[in-house]
Amino acid sequence: MKCALCGYEFDQNEATAACKNCPTIMSGSCNFIKCPNCGFEIAAESKLLKLLKKLRRSTS
Ligand SMILES: [Zn+2]
Repeated sequence: MKCALCGYEFDQNEATAACKNCPTIMSGSCNFIKCPNCGFEIAAESKLLKLLKKLRRSTS
């Protein structure tokens, strides 16, 4: 994916691994990914949308 701030293209797994200091207790990772180039935090929209769709499907 591409960083919205610096335009650096990187792998999402690589960016997630960079988020080690995140205090979340949910499965070891948060909903944000970090750009390995500038450190800008980006909301993992694809992941979030997937989760929302899953929740909608289960509740309706
Ligand atoms: Zn960046």
